[in-house]
Amino acid sequence: MSQQKLLSVVVSVYNEELSLPDFYATTKPILEACPWDYELLFVNDGSSDSSISILHQFAAENDKVKIVDFSRNFGHEAAMIAGIDHASGDGIICMDADLQHPPTSIPEIIAKFEEGYDVISMIRTAREDGGLIKKITSSLFYGVLNLLSPVKFEKNSSDFFAISRSVAQVLRKDYREKVRYLRGYVQSAGFRKTTLPFEAKSRIAGESKYNIGKLLRFSITTLCSFSDMPLKLGVYSGLLVAFFGLILMVYTIVNKVLYHVPSGYSTIIVAMSFMFAIVLMVIGVIGQYISVLFAEIKNRPIYIVKECTNLEGHTSGGIDNRR
Ligand code: UDP
Ligand code: MG
Repeated sequence: MSQQKLLSVVVSVYNEELSLPDFYATTKPILEACPWDYELLFVNDGSSDSSISILHQFAAENDKVKIVDFSRNFGHEAAMIAGIDHASGDGIICMDADLQHPPTSIPEIIAKFEEGYDVISMIRTAREDGGLIKKITSSLFYGVLNLLSPVKFEKNSSDFFAISRSVAQVLRKDYREKVRYLRGYVQSAGFRKTTLPFEAKSRIAGESKYNIGKLLRFSITTLCSFSDMPLKLGVYSGLLVAFFGLILMVYTIVNKVLYHVPSGYSTIIVAMSFMFAIVLMVIGVIGQYISVLFAEIKNRPIYIVKECTNLEGHTSGGIDNRR
């Protein structure tokens, strides 16, 4: 008989003291009933509440619960990749701690792994929280991203996905960017892909850590790291301005020569404002890319681990993959 396979469930945790007990109570029986052995790997992303002591309680009663504890808050993206770096499973599932990603999907995911798939993207069929604004902004984001980027992104995809060991190995070695979008790497890495639907529930407790401002910033940097189209904006807008400029020039000369109309003050103001607006916009776009470049070039670690629990034998495959 072949050896039993191992499933790693990576859960990012940031101030989730209210959700964690429910999450663990719901997920553990599902994992124990699965045909694969499991490890439940929590990444504590610098929580300032009692999340870490709750996690230590789980780890004390169950050595399949593992903890990677960050030195401070590094963000959800850093937490997910740290979980993948420290996971040993044949298959790895990333999910949130607030039960918005239903653990009841785990058996279906294992079935897909058994069928030989390497990337299983979970697609939201309904979204119970966030309302209309989140729906519109999310579909706008994917619309623009798909328009501008050569990689095609699954609409309604989420941070709920599963990857095989081979994909995890790619993520551990490559895609070590500082400005990160894990979902994008997973979709662009290739391999055998499939999707599964799931219904996004409301958060069981606590509040969402993302607000519109944070999401907007995140969308802009993601766009910059997956498309260089905005950078070429300068060329296109330059052509556009040149075209309008030409029309304006002909118009002014004709007016002057035929009708002796003095060249207009307002024409100058309009033309100048238009051009300055375009120049400033293009500089802004370049600034966005410089800020991404700056973050990459500094090469600071994606995350810093303070302490690991129940991960004694883990070596991260011998690579220093914090960067
Ligand atoms: N999270 C994290 N670090 C952060 C913010 C969030 O690890 O800086 C975790 C959070 O604990 C949760 C998941 O990422 O498990 C998703 O966060 P949240 O539910 O706030 O986002 P939403 O589901 O509203 O998009
Ligand atoms: Mg959530």
